[in-house]
Amino acid sequence: METKVILTEKEMPTSWYNIQADLPEPLPPVLHPGTGQPVGPADLAPLFPMELIKQEVSQERYIEIPEEVQEIYRIWRPTPLVRAYRLEKALDTPARIYYKYEGVSPAGSHKPNTAVAQAYYNMKEGVKRIATETGAGQWGSALSMGCMFFGIELKVYMVKISYQQKPYRRVMMETWGAKCVPSPSPDTKAGRDVLARDPDCTGSLGIAISEAVEDAVSRDDTKYALGSVLNHVLLHQTIVGQEAKKQLEKIDAYPDIIIGCIGGGSNFAGVYLPFVKDKIEGKKPDLRIINVEPEACPTVTKGPYAYDFGDEAMLTPLIKMYTLGHSFVPPPVHAGGLRYHGMAPIICHLHKLGLVEARAEYQIPIFKAALQFARTEGHIPAPEPAHAIKVVIDEALKCKESGEKKTILLALSGHGHFDLGAYDEFLSGKLQDYEYPKEKVEEALAKLPKM
Ligand SMILES: *Cc1c(COP(=O)(O)O)cnc(C)c1O
Repeated sequence: METKVILTEKEMPTSWYNIQADLPEPLPPVLHPGTGQPVGPADLAPLFPMELIKQEVSQERYIEIPEEVQEIYRIWRPTPLVRAYRLEKALDTPARIYYKYEGVSPAGSHKPNTAVAQAYYNMKEGVKRIATETGAGQWGSALSMGCMFFGIELKVYMVKISYQQKPYRRVMMETWGAKCVPSPSPDTKAGRDVLARDPDCTGSLGIAISEAVEDAVSRDDTKYALGSVLNHVLLHQTIVGQEAKKQLEKIDAYPDIIIGCIGGGSNFAGVYLPFVKDKIEGKKPDLRIINVEPEACPTVTKGPYAYDFGDEAMLTPLIKMYTLGHSFVPPPVHAGGLRYHGMAPIICHLHKLGLVEARAEYQIPIFKAALQFARTEGHIPAPEPAHAIKVVIDEALKCKESGEKKTILLALSGHGHFDLGAYDEFLSGKLQDYEYPKEKVEEALAKLPKM
């Protein structure tokens, strides 16, 4: 019985899978905030290269991965699928646990899968400069690397709390040649407005997105890039799930439960969308897919399904999604990548259709789970996928009680080597839990756009 399943470079998928071709009902349209009408390509053209705008609404089932992108993917892809024998043994569970590990990329997470693709399409259309935001710094560092490969200048607005907690992510961005500033920053009107209201604001992804969008639309040579949420981002991440499916096929396995964490939703959707296809087609009707989010920012488990802005300053189109309100600033949990008020429309739609489920977890139990993983499997996970590990352990322990030999697939989106400050807090007993900030959410939800 092998411990890990490796694909050769020749076995790496050469197309991305587009769930839009197989949805039982189409996605709700994205709306223009001024007119209330569906947005068209012309509305998005100041922000994104045309090829990505096309991918955003494409109904084609498979979209070919450009050869130049495949070449870069091959530096670290295909990524391993590993059987967590030691974790299974420690839990004394009959469940079989597999994890698909994206921490082997140069940036340490799944994010380069879309960063490289997005930088490529920008380069192809002659874009010289990109502006973006980053939460914990994973997206900023991944896009810094992507832009480095294709000779594009990059400015990153980094959520201030993470900029302070994680200085090495900034250094990583600078090493690949990007410029990084803490957000809210004085460099944009959106940033200056927030600082005037609240000089001590620790920032949020919503605010940082406003800054990056403003930067991009106010310059002719600059476009914007988003590391999660959008359909084309989830599309690029499906390389992960397609690999995992092939790897499981090689050992005649198929998951009963797939578990991952959701911030904007890209890593986990990338893993499960190729499996959702089977569920929609009735090949695996009882497959369970569990999206895990922080109790401090419980978008899908507690938010309403409503039209909202993607950013704080209300610059983006209106997206139908589960949301805690565009003005919501989540408590500073260490899983910075999970501090977003909204969620990928594709995930929200699948949740509404009953094809996937969601759960919220507190930060202390997730660090306990992360420690158990590190002390059995060796890998030190990022705090984001540690949310998923907590639920994997819960489900494996349920299998122990029931005696069921379920196959569990864990989306292990990245390593935690830049999160050791958080581990230090946990190990020294200083880590605190944040309750669901009910009043702040209610306040933010009162500001949802009236439709
Ligand atoms: C950014 C990030 C996430 C959250 O973003 P998604 O788009 O939901 O995947 C999760 N895990 C890691 C390691 C990340 O870097």
